[in-house]
Amino acid sequence: MSALEPVLNALDTNLDKSLERLFDLLRIKSISTDPAFKVDCRKAAEWLVADLQSIGFEASIRDTPGHPMVVAHHAGPNEDAPHVLFYGHYDVQPVDPLELWENDPFDPAIKDMGNGRKILTGRGTSDDKGQLMTFVEACRAYKAVHGQLPIKVSILFEGEEESGSPSLKPFLESHKNELKADFALVCDTGMWDSETPAISVGLRGLVGEEIIVKAADRDLHSGMFGGAAANPIRILTKILADIHDENGAVTIPGFYDGVEETPTQILQMWEGLDATPENFLGPVGLSIPSGEQGRSILELIWARPTAEFNGITGGYTGQGFKTVIAAQASAKVSFRLVHKQNPAKIREAFRAFVQARVPADCTVEFHEHGGSPAIQLSYESPLLSKAKNALSDEWPNPAVLIAMGGSIPIVGDFQNMLGMESLLVGYGLEDDRIHSPNEKYELNSFHKGQRSWARILDALAK
Ligand SMILES: [Zn+2]
Repeated sequence: MSALEPVLNALDTNLDKSLERLFDLLRIKSISTDPAFKVDCRKAAEWLVADLQSIGFEASIRDTPGHPMVVAHHAGPNEDAPHVLFYGHYDVQPVDPLELWENDPFDPAIKDMGNGRKILTGRGTSDDKGQLMTFVEACRAYKAVHGQLPIKVSILFEGEEESGSPSLKPFLESHKNELKADFALVCDTGMWDSETPAISVGLRGLVGEEIIVKAADRDLHSGMFGGAAANPIRILTKILADIHDENGAVTIPGFYDGVEETPTQILQMWEGLDATPENFLGPVGLSIPSGEQGRSILELIWARPTAEFNGITGGYTGQGFKTVIAAQASAKVSFRLVHKQNPAKIREAFRAFVQARVPADCTVEFHEHGGSPAIQLSYESPLLSKAKNALSDEWPNPAVLIAMGGSIPIVGDFQNMLGMESLLVGYGLEDDRIHSPNEKYELNSFHKGQRSWARILDALAK
């Protein structure tokens, strides 16, 4: 018999006990944004420390200027065993409006939905207490069955994820040596659907820019000056219009430096996920993809960079009509980056592109609004194939490798500050209503999530 089989059996046998533990944690009102719940946040951290200690972790609370971190370590079977850092967060979103909840958000329950489907109700069931406990339970079962863990495991639980993680960066900075592992496991994402597990391998980066085009030193009468004086709205809109060509590609020189073509087998996998223009754009009242032509919807949002205009101002926009030539016009422009695109170079290239289009008697002002590179796990990573196979063994459908259109800051921080890649695996579903009333987690997610982590731990040890 393999080392894994008895661990999976133990998880099945002890499901009720694992639910009791999860419910204990869920009853603690660890709302991080509201100072009224400061004591509860600490209570949740203390609960986790005690629980991890009961498994044999060396676990402790670490104070920060905000809510405390939980840090825990457990040795592997030997010195050479792989070392992972598992990340989750114990804080939850506020629960208002309370009257929309069908059950008390802090009195978790199991609800029978018929046809064998059961859900866990309550704040934090899916985001993120239920998710983080899937990993803790897998460790507990492994330890109970074999007396040790198959690899070296460190854990970092944060208590400020839902309030912008103000303490995280400084904490990572001052605990680099302690927290650095071979790679990170992050459990705060979802499945593709209820039968198909997913690993997120790409997260797009972001560059934000604001430009203000300035022409005359005051607003002008368009009858007196129109035709002779530069109009900043016309200059601005011409610049913005120049940014895309007729096929939807970005024309800024050097923009695509560092963008890689997605491997064919990955594109085929995405095609199998059936995100058509009809079912992706249909629900928002659209039907025609607007990005680069000849690429699928999922490739456009997961593996291609974009230039988007998020806001534009200029001239008279109030009621009625005013024949004015404005003194200035402005736009907020954002770029989603992929692969190895360099945020600083994109910003520089964009500014040069704009500057070259401003007449000599006008000026342009630039304001920076954040920048972060994309995260891309190598499709060839052995880590990825081990996790993918492990997940595929557990669920009805094989695991799919997906990407995310936006960013998850913790993954960037692990990459940039600790030089550590992250594997994003989670068991949430799109209809879990995280951050909303009636948050739930499928019992199946909780149970098979535990079994999935046991399989992944086992696979990583080999
Ligand atoms: Zn979360």
